[in-house]
Amino acid sequence: MGVVDGKLRFDTKLIHGGSSRDASGATKTPIVQASAFAYNTAEELEDVFRGRAVGQVYTRIGNPTLEGLEKRLAAVEDGIAAVITSSGMSAITTAVMAVVRSGDEILSSSSLFGGTYSLFHDTLSNYGITTSFFDPVDLWALEAGINERTRLIFVETIGNPKMDVPDIAAFSAVAKKHGIPLMVDATVSTPYLARMRELGADIIVHSTSKYINGTANSIGGAIIDAGSFNWNSALFPHFEPFYKKYRNFAFTARVRKLIHKDFGACAAPLNAFLSGEGLETLSLRMERHCSNAMKLASFLHAHPKVAWVNYPGLADSPFHNVARRQFNGRFGGLLTFGLADRAAAFRFINGLTLAKNLANIGDTKTLVIHPASTICADYTPEVKALMGVSEELVRVSVGIEAPEDIQDDFATALEQV
Ligand SMILES: *Cc1c(COP(=O)(O)O)cnc(C)c1O
Repeated sequence: MGVVDGKLRFDTKLIHGGSSRDASGATKTPIVQASAFAYNTAEELEDVFRGRAVGQVYTRIGNPTLEGLEKRLAAVEDGIAAVITSSGMSAITTAVMAVVRSGDEILSSSSLFGGTYSLFHDTLSNYGITTSFFDPVDLWALEAGINERTRLIFVETIGNPKMDVPDIAAFSAVAKKHGIPLMVDATVSTPYLARMRELGADIIVHSTSKYINGTANSIGGAIIDAGSFNWNSALFPHFEPFYKKYRNFAFTARVRKLIHKDFGACAAPLNAFLSGEGLETLSLRMERHCSNAMKLASFLHAHPKVAWVNYPGLADSPFHNVARRQFNGRFGGLLTFGLADRAAAFRFINGLTLAKNLANIGDTKTLVIHPASTICADYTPEVKALMGVSEELVRVSVGIEAPEDIQDDFATALEQV
């Protein structure tokens, strides 16, 4: 019994993908709660350091528990390798910094998770890395935005909280034409809705804190290398030593041996273990997240006090057709809806008893938040408009409770609006 066959189906890979049998016979990847790994001789340790022998050295660089989840995530996403990190933000920072250098430009969707927008717009601009934003529904804007400094195209698979769904295959075609890698944040769609490698993404990032962990017990991030991009390119001279030595694995090598090692945002073994436990049940949970969200969206859509509902599963969403095709008729667990105004949104949230009012998504529990006064409160009115954050908007991460109980909770709260 060695490494499990790569031809396994998706649901099976969630559980067995990339796994090899532990010497003890344990059916779980052990939690190796150790900072460093000892070798008997100076020669052995030198061999490991020089890459002549395989082995762990120090948990910032690698650890058997982290490696277990990395192999499984790579298998699940049909990638060639994965690196896990301490958080979704550190996965994005590490992956982006592995690609771009000072003077380079990122071409990014304007519909972004707040932390990523802040990283691109406020932080990286201080280090000579600029970002030009485009509307992800507009393929022409993407193509028109590419210039001689562009080194990365970045997009989210389902915009949070805008709920827009870009056509990833079409984006990939433009990226390929220009020889620029496409990095996709697939946190909201998860590998369950679609494998982004099939759609043409070159690098896939996740906040595992959300649906992959699934029960909101640890923060984490992942970077998956699809192995599809040719780094042997005049646009990427900084990849040359990595390409020479590691060929197809040049990106992962630059991440692991340079950027991740230096930035040091390594995952904790216990968190990696817990996220791996969550990954096993991703399909089951997502099936229920999707069906509960569809039911709640339909209920809200028909409710007289609800002004509008934004869910790609509804036929009136401008993204319905792209989402249906791209995600095989599944639409995820996130939706937004509008009430009369901000005061009505607050009264609604205060009237809920089951759903939790907090800043997270992807938990088993139903979660709500008023983004304009919380996670997006620092945005200027222009940025709020760009991100689709209005005062009357409530975001819902629909949980996996009995759908009737979620609906009852919402119906009661709506009575108080
Ligand atoms: C939460 C989230 C992140 C950031 O992940 P953390 O684990 O909170 O650092 C990035 N992208 C998306 C789409 C997210 O929802």
